[in-house]
Amino acid sequence: MAEKGQGRAIGIDLGTTYSCVAAWQHERIEIIANDQGNRTTPSYVAFIDSHRLIGDAAKNQVANNPINTIFDAKRLIGRKFNDPTVQSDMILWPFKVIADSTNKPMIVVTYKGEEKQFAAEEISSMVLTKMKDVAEAYLGESVNNAVITVPAYFNDSQRRATKDAGAIAGLNVMRIINEPTAAAIAYLVDKRATFRGEKNVLIFDLGGGTFDVSLVTINAGVLRVKAVSGDTHLGGEDMDNRMVNHFVKEFKRKKNMDISGNPRAIRRLRTACERAKRILSSTFETNIEIESLFEGIDSISTITRAKFEELNMDLFNTCIEQVKMCLQDAKMEKSSIHDVVLVGGSSRIPKVQQMLQELFDGKKVCKSINPDEAVAYGAAALAAHLSGEGDDKVRQLVLLDVTPLSLGIECNGDKMVVFIPRNTAIPTRKEIKDFSTAEDNQTNATFRVYEGERSRATDNNLLGEFCLEGIPTAPRGAICFNVCFDIDANGILKVSAGEATSGLNNNITINSYMGRLSKEQIEKMVDDADKYKREDEEHKKNVAAMYAVEDYAYETRNTIRCAAKLTEDDKKKMEDAFESFIQWLDSNKLAEADDYKNKMKELETIFNPIIAKID
Ligand code: ADP
Ligand code: MG
Repeated sequence: MAEKGQGRAIGIDLGTTYSCVAAWQHERIEIIANDQGNRTTPSYVAFIDSHRLIGDAAKNQVANNPINTIFDAKRLIGRKFNDPTVQSDMILWPFKVIADSTNKPMIVVTYKGEEKQFAAEEISSMVLTKMKDVAEAYLGESVNNAVITVPAYFNDSQRRATKDAGAIAGLNVMRIINEPTAAAIAYLVDKRATFRGEKNVLIFDLGGGTFDVSLVTINAGVLRVKAVSGDTHLGGEDMDNRMVNHFVKEFKRKKNMDISGNPRAIRRLRTACERAKRILSSTFETNIEIESLFEGIDSISTITRAKFEELNMDLFNTCIEQVKMCLQDAKMEKSSIHDVVLVGGSSRIPKVQQMLQELFDGKKVCKSINPDEAVAYGAAALAAHLSGEGDDKVRQLVLLDVTPLSLGIECNGDKMVVFIPRNTAIPTRKEIKDFSTAEDNQTNATFRVYEGERSRATDNNLLGEFCLEGIPTAPRGAICFNVCFDIDANGILKVSAGEATSGLNNNITINSYMGRLSKEQIEKMVDDADKYKREDEEHKKNVAAMYAVEDYAYETRNTIRCAAKLTEDDKKKMEDAFESFIQWLDSNKLAEADDYKNKMKELETIFNPIIAKID
């Protein structure tokens, strides 16, 4: 666990599509609304000529600026460029993604007229900064500590990269916790007064980009995760994509036109599809009407709930399969589940709720927890717990989480030797001592660390590798190694290996994986983040100065125009000065605060003597 730092602690649900922030305030956990009054904030960052937009402002302008508006950073974070999911997502993204020299995906945008590249961690850090600002504005003090949530099924690389994003945003990441675990904390804090004894609760979290299931057992203040399952690439956005493809095909059939290469048209269609999808959760049919979608031609169509369900049935089935797997892993019968808690915006889809209800033999699903806010609520409860805030319920919280994937090393020709099986409670440590040299006089030994469930190591995800060098020469099998796996409370892994007999004590710890940002890169990104923030503030100041002089010019013009006492000459002088000011303003929309202030002074020297004549 990270040290408690200065300042307040908050909980951030960093979602694929929406993020949410909460904190302990006024003797309870409060969800904090952003500057627009919204309790969730789109995870969007846009780059325009003069400045950067984050959240609602970025999402609202997306149709006009599709190639420089970035979303879905969470679908990139901790992944490699050649990851098949990255390759297939890229086809649908209007923004450009390239590989750097280490095969890390980089997002390419034009900002202030220059081409810039950002890692997914940086884009995510911008969203985190926004959530931090939202919290600071509400709490009225600086916030330095945060609990950040990740999908339960995120792998080690994705967790580390999320932690890095927090560091770039200037946050001390107290803990990375699983989203469904956070939702379970919300359930526990919310419901504890109303139940006694032990309860088995299944958390079903279907969001915009990811799907998670967790089976937790709650008893008094102790929350024990029994098993997790899910899919890091299944959510509402995939359903939107299905609808987009459906309408692209329909447009082709009806109008004989292919809109798939036009980012603006696709973006407008996607927005309309997402809206229609939400409407279909409460009605059986809805219209999709988009004026002038492509080459001046409108798109007018309808979609029924049944069609929507047909388009996505395989995705819904995957969700149900994952729930079954989670029950199996926890070795629990479905009859022993007391409550099924729905989390995530897509859990509102009636078909999903119906299929879940059928699986649990008609048991009603619990909707009393807010599906958009439960994750941030739980993260904030844990943040309060870790920083010593909160009431008894929060203080007495005990959290026992599990690892989502099996972890091990490659041994004897591509065999995966599992050290820590999936669904092991964390933190945990496992040491195995009986590894030995495979060849005579072997001086080096390479350890490759993998995560995954396949028996062939190379079918799993390679997390990293390291080498022990300088092994004393000896016949094959004579030298033994001990290898140790250590997982901390954040679910982050350290692996070390040593050679005991030689006394060389060659211990190496894996603390980075391929594609992870180096310490220097993070430091540079922290500096850049400060720079961008200063630029944004500078831009705000410039805009405020521009409005001030514009307001002044209009107001004074109106006062002078309405004044009875003034001569035509004075009035003409004012009108001329006003006209030339408006012309100047038109061609100086991106000027600096000082230029506007100077302009104000110029106007004042002309206007003040005229105004003086009125009084
Ligand atoms: P994430 O945490 O992955 O960002 P959220 O839990 O915020 O996701 O859920 C957002 C997703 O939920 C979006 O894909 C959105 O379209 C979908 N969604 C929100 N409300 C509804 C609804 N009423 N019916 C269907 N889908 C919905
Ligand atoms: Mg979510």
